[in-house]
Amino acid sequence: MKSTQIRSEGDRGAHRYIALVGNPNSGKTTVFNALTGLRQKVGNYPGVTVEKKEGRVLFENGSEATLLDLPGTYSLTATSPDEQIATDVLLGRAPQTPHPELVVCVVDASNLERGLNLVSQIIDRQFPLVVALNMIDVATQQGISINVPVLERELGVPVVPMVARKEQGVTELKEAVRATRVATGKARAWRLPGPVQRECEELAGLLHDHHRLVGSEAFHEAMALLTADSALIEKNDRYAPELLKHVQRDHQKLDFLGIDRSAVFFVSRSEWIKSVCAQAVTSTFRPGMSLSDRIDRIVTHRFWGILIFLGIMGVLFQAIFSWAAVPMEWINEGFDWLGGVVTDAVPPGDLQDLLVRGALAGVAAVVVFLPQILFLFLFLGFLEDSGYMARAAFIMDRLMGKVGLHGKSFIPLLSSFACAIPGIMATRTIDNPKDRLATMLVAPLMSCSARLPVYALLIAAFIPAGTVVGVFSFAGITLLSMYLLGLLAALGMAWLFKSTFLRGTPPSFLMELPPYKLPSLKSVFYQVWERATSFLKRAGTIILGASILLWFLASYPKLENATPSEQLNHSFAGRAGHLIEPIIKPLGFDWKIGIGLVSSMLQREVFVSTMGTIYNIQNASAEEDETISLRAHMTQDRDPVTGLPTFTLLTALCVMVYYVLAMQCLSTVAVMRRETNGWRWPIFQIGYMTVLAYVVTFAVYRAGLWLGVGG
Ligand code: GDP
Ligand code: MG
Repeated sequence: MKSTQIRSEGDRGAHRYIALVGNPNSGKTTVFNALTGLRQKVGNYPGVTVEKKEGRVLFENGSEATLLDLPGTYSLTATSPDEQIATDVLLGRAPQTPHPELVVCVVDASNLERGLNLVSQIIDRQFPLVVALNMIDVATQQGISINVPVLERELGVPVVPMVARKEQGVTELKEAVRATRVATGKARAWRLPGPVQRECEELAGLLHDHHRLVGSEAFHEAMALLTADSALIEKNDRYAPELLKHVQRDHQKLDFLGIDRSAVFFVSRSEWIKSVCAQAVTSTFRPGMSLSDRIDRIVTHRFWGILIFLGIMGVLFQAIFSWAAVPMEWINEGFDWLGGVVTDAVPPGDLQDLLVRGALAGVAAVVVFLPQILFLFLFLGFLEDSGYMARAAFIMDRLMGKVGLHGKSFIPLLSSFACAIPGIMATRTIDNPKDRLATMLVAPLMSCSARLPVYALLIAAFIPAGTVVGVFSFAGITLLSMYLLGLLAALGMAWLFKSTFLRGTPPSFLMELPPYKLPSLKSVFYQVWERATSFLKRAGTIILGASILLWFLASYPKLENATPSEQLNHSFAGRAGHLIEPIIKPLGFDWKIGIGLVSSMLQREVFVSTMGTIYNIQNASAEEDETISLRAHMTQDRDPVTGLPTFTLLTALCVMVYYVLAMQCLSTVAVMRRETNGWRWPIFQIGYMTVLAYVVTFAVYRAGLWLGVGG
């Protein structure tokens, strides 16, 4: 074992486990990043707070603690799976997660009452607690000022005012976290109406006598039993029958007194919170419309809003092409150089071939799209952080309602632009199981970042240069169209599902629009960083492995004295491609595209690396010439028999449409299986998406031939 330095300052060097909780959008993730820096470990899937995310906090005195970022929650009485996780961890019921010794609760200072509701519940559980009073800047802007010492006095816990986005108050928060060891909060400072209070205490006593429950736990069980539906009490088999009899009598008594049992606890707590706020908060209300409101009148307008949305997206997709061109060139040159180095170092033969034409060609074909992915996330990050994404969600909410989906579904769908996996996991915030399933089923239709390399390769090679109305390039418009096609398909299928086997009443949903703000470079950077590393990780593992495998399949069995092209034809991969060619012929795809379709069932980008490897092997004799790009290989490729080009503008469009709609992603299948607890829905999803992709691609191909786009 390595020797570890333990500084003792009465700490005994104990490594503490701390949980970070807070309402959604209170700035929890920002506080988490400020406390832990890059010392983070994200569960399987980066980019979301739904899964387990841990980081290390270093204190001034050299000691450390582990900080766990929990999903955003409004209360400890879980109603959605997301809140369930937070509650379970806090109560020490989550498997493989230590019981936290301290809770840091992030509260949005501009939304104090709502935050204190959660704080009060944590205090009642008698946890050691520190309140991070975040977004002080926003509160100040809205004319809200909070008297921190008064708040601390009323709650009994340390309160640290902060502006996490500007790293203000981070040192103070760390100090408070380090110094807080025991629960100091005023548990159950709120008052229940007399009769309820009496019954609650009596019941807590009985729970102690019969079931050894103590303190806050006994009180919370008593609360739960008194609030519960009377019918549920009859079915309860956890508690002694005489105790349950008592509960039933209590129900009758309280119902007779006209007390709303289901609301009384919430109302009592809220009244106490209101009185705390009345003492600690002074608000200078400024009447009139704020600038934010005035902007929103236009940005969320029924007509202009959608136009603005499309305009912003148009600029975004165009910029992805123009700005990324230069760094992409660098990456290309880098790989060319590396290829040269390997060629010089390794003697010609199978090994050199494997390294250069298999591994390097495949990985290079995918990694070259890193700059475009970075730009996509940079843009999305800025849009999100400035508050615009919430407006986009607001505009889309109307559309969602039309197809029978909950407004909450838009956020998972939006996340699916990055990757369907966090998108599908984000559906956990949707309470209604039918809405949730409908959203999960259509999430993979949104164009994820793995499709970007496929689109980008084909657009760069086959979409002519030129602009519409002098501003928007054909390339940008084609890319935008692919994203819109995915969105429309998702909405259309959701509508179909919701009006057939997932029929139900669409719930109403009120969306909050946070005020606009200047985006924070730092939080945008974190997102881009997470994406870039996970993209490169996949290129270094799955893509590398697939490329090597494909090289083997495309190089063997060997044919004596054959041209590279005949050799490819003869190989395992070539035979497989020819085998499925009849099935994909109606879509205008030849056997080489067939190899790409099959190999990319693993993951969509593999299509690009497959093309990279295949064309590199096929054009092995062109070695002497200067290296030709994959793009050029594809445009110049001709059928040896007919002399017709393998790829035309129409073929390229058809391949893109196919990739918009088909389910080419094993990880998504795995996540669907996990989230729906079985194979039924993932299999249904693969089925309907494949049929949809095939039918639509076929229609596009036919229409294209008819219009004479085939060329
Ligand atoms: P979470 O949903 O609780 O994890 O919230 P995030 O950390 O994602 O923050 C939501 C938004 O609030 C982001 O755009 C942050 O940049 C922003 N934010 C976080 N802390 C502050 C703050 O102290 N002041 C301001 N003005 N914005 C903040
Ligand atoms: Mg978060």
